[in-house]
Amino acid sequence: MTDALLALNAGSSSFKFVIARADALDQPVLGGSAERLGSEQGVLSLKPAQGPSSRQALPDATHQQALTVLFDALAEHCPGLTVRGIGHRIVHGGAIFTDPVRITPDVVGDLTRLVPLAPLHQPHGLAAIDAARARYPEAIQVACFDTAFHAGKPWIHQAIALPKRYYTEGVRRYGFHGIACESITSALIADGFPLEERAIAIAHLGNGCSVTAVKNGRALATSMGFSALDGLTMGTRCGHIDPGVLLHLLRNGHDADSLERLLYREAGLLGLSGLSNDMRDLAASDSDDARDAIAFFIARAVEEISRMAGVMGGLDCVVFSGGIGENAADIRHAVMKGLSFLPGREGTGIECKVQPADEEDQLLRAAKRFL
Ligand code: AMP
Repeated sequence: MTDALLALNAGSSSFKFVIARADALDQPVLGGSAERLGSEQGVLSLKPAQGPSSRQALPDATHQQALTVLFDALAEHCPGLTVRGIGHRIVHGGAIFTDPVRITPDVVGDLTRLVPLAPLHQPHGLAAIDAARARYPEAIQVACFDTAFHAGKPWIHQAIALPKRYYTEGVRRYGFHGIACESITSALIADGFPLEERAIAIAHLGNGCSVTAVKNGRALATSMGFSALDGLTMGTRCGHIDPGVLLHLLRNGHDADSLERLLYREAGLLGLSGLSNDMRDLAASDSDDARDAIAFFIARAVEEISRMAGVMGGLDCVVFSGGIGENAADIRHAVMKGLSFLPGREGTGIECKVQPADEEDQLLRAAKRFL
């Protein structure tokens, strides 16, 4: 039997996974995803490095059920591999976890206490830990945190202008997409791109969107804050919003649950366009509302990246990632055009790069460090 590592990247209605031999992490044996979990269209896709891909319908499956099907499939497809370690993506590490950590019952207790800070994401990460511990009781389980990359931000970029006791209680700007940011900065370094003396903005534009200011290789500020709602306009999330609007809505028929649904699931590109949360659908549509939604999305990206230029005292390079950032060249060009007033390094303009994030690779590497 050969030692293997498994990466489990649980999202709100999906998860991605990769399994690799412990001595060949950059050549995964099998990867894939489960998508649209909890809906009739739930599906598990397996993509072996060799051989044909396959899909299995999982109507109305929970994360737990989909993981059980996945673990059975791993046993069937990879009979020679023994899972020794599992790297989990956990959205919220709070103020406690600033590095990957081996999962113990105490750690699970701490992560469970953070559920109220990320109610739509944290439970799925915990469900994955639970399912993996039941199936692979001997394996080392490691948690990696989306908040960790941002943990060293200066106080002014973590604070919220409320009475200070709220900060002490954990009401602060954490930031998310950190595992993606780590993967991107690692890839840039491996590519020979110098992060020292450089001010870069990582524009992660997917269904979730964020901009992170990275100066000298460290996160200084990021557009997401206390929750993954703040900052850029996203597929279904509102991004930046005047808090007075929330008070108005609460006084006029909304309660916390309906407001949560509105802000997380019915806003963003979907809300603005009335059509779709998916940029490809909007780009293909000739409706005015779709066009307006795209224009709004671009304007917010320009505003937020400009803010990061202010935070860093300059901007050398914008690094695009995520489904939109990697694939939609016209959006990238429009954003860069909006930034053309900024001088860039030595007056040469701002560099534009595309760098896909590989979160599962980060999870595998973190798990290996604990073997
Ligand atoms: P992600 O969450 O990173 O998978 O990104 C999903 C988003 O990327 C969706 O809005 C997709 O419509 C968008 N996307 C993927 N491919 C393209 C493309 N070729 N052009 C425009 N948007 C795309």
